[in-house]
Amino acid sequence: MKSSEENLKFFQQVNHYFDKASKYIEAPKDILEHIKANNTVIHFQFPIKRDNGEIEVIEAWRAQHSHHRKPCKGGIRFADIANEDEVIALAALMTYKCAIVDVPFGGGKGAVKINPKNYSKTELERITRRFTFELKAKNFIGPGIDVPAPDYGTGPQEMAWITDTYYSLSDELDAIACVTGKPVTQGGIRGRNEATGRGVYYGLKAICEDKELMQKFSIKPGLEGKSVVIQGFGNVGYHTAKYMSQLANSKVIAIAEYDGIIVNKQGLDIEKLMAFRAKHNTFKGYDEGMAEFIEDRNKFLEIECDILIPAALESQITLANVDKVKAKIIGEAANGPVTCLASDQLSERGVLIVPDIYLNAGGVTVSYFEWVKNLSHMRYGRMEKKFQEKAFLNFVSLVEKVTDKKISQEVSERFSHQANEETLVNAGLEETMINSYSQIMNIMKKLDYKVSMKIAAYICAIEKINLSYEELGLFP
Ligand code: GLU
Repeated sequence: MKSSEENLKFFQQVNHYFDKASKYIEAPKDILEHIKANNTVIHFQFPIKRDNGEIEVIEAWRAQHSHHRKPCKGGIRFADIANEDEVIALAALMTYKCAIVDVPFGGGKGAVKINPKNYSKTELERITRRFTFELKAKNFIGPGIDVPAPDYGTGPQEMAWITDTYYSLSDELDAIACVTGKPVTQGGIRGRNEATGRGVYYGLKAICEDKELMQKFSIKPGLEGKSVVIQGFGNVGYHTAKYMSQLANSKVIAIAEYDGIIVNKQGLDIEKLMAFRAKHNTFKGYDEGMAEFIEDRNKFLEIECDILIPAALESQITLANVDKVKAKIIGEAANGPVTCLASDQLSERGVLIVPDIYLNAGGVTVSYFEWVKNLSHMRYGRMEKKFQEKAFLNFVSLVEKVTDKKISQEVSERFSHQANEETLVNAGLEETMINSYSQIMNIMKKLDYKVSMKIAAYICAIEKINLSYEELGLFP
């Protein structure tokens, strides 16, 4: 990082965008200040017993940036670089993200300062359960209070432990809605695990199919054949790679991880690569056509490509390396992967940055579907699936009777297949990403493309939150 940037904390960076966007919003200054501020953060420590019998004290946080909608919502990360400023900044991003995709939550985020790789599964279980106990004791978790979800370093397993711990402490009917991103057998929803990556694909598709926008940035419309470089091969990076290659027909030519980069200019076979990495825990030695391994992970920026997708952590593209960026589009699948000063420079250079608060909102969107499912205590599609199937078959018989022609079994089966939970979730997610994109685009167009997509996304979020204050008023 360069010195001008080093002094800027993550939350200040989020507020840098907020302040730029605020200039375009007609709202009382004090309301804007209230929206911007972080409402609450708790910092606590708790002991856990390691497998060798030693006691270790663990540091943790939960921030609730905004309560304009309840519950607060946002993931819990397990990372040894976690700190209070980061948790608050990430909670603020959740506030804006939820507003953009019309998910009725305030923003929250939690962190446990550990590197999960250094702990056994039983130790991780003890840490997660004790963390949940602390949150419950402090009234910082609950279906109507604050609902965590997976984030960097956590997944469905941790969410299952959170659910089980909360359950043992609560007799609420809706207790299962205390956390999202659970395994399907524990009240989770089909499609949640893939949701962030799938949302990244839907978002980039909407953008690249927008001919007017593509013309403004001198980019050929469409995703097909576009070369893609992804940083990170965790849940978000892997699913983004999968859908970009399988559904968009883009060429994922490189994936960077902490231990090196795998490159294949012909396009990587994502499933084969995942199977290899799961077995060997590295890309080194991966053998596929022209694939080559580059040891220096920082080189990912220099690979010539159409779309660069940072899908790991914040502050990966900074003033120190921004000059090396070759891509025309940067899709922020991670939260805050481009620092605000680097982002300003890239926008001036005509690089299209697709903002995190829009592009990675697929995760929380499907978390919302899961929460609603939990509150209704019923799987989506359960009531209507058979009814729709029968109604369709009745319609087919009617058409056959009127036309005196038989509709083939194949056609009839294809169309009588009605939506199950996963298809409904994916359709709801696609609709959300398209809808939010057009809201952001309308702002860009209204301002005659004078603001970047990032600032337009912030304007979109702040306007909606401001409206909710205007309608509700504030407590005296
Ligand atoms: N951790 C994810 C995010 O940063 C998901 C949050 C959620 O589902 O609540 O958006």
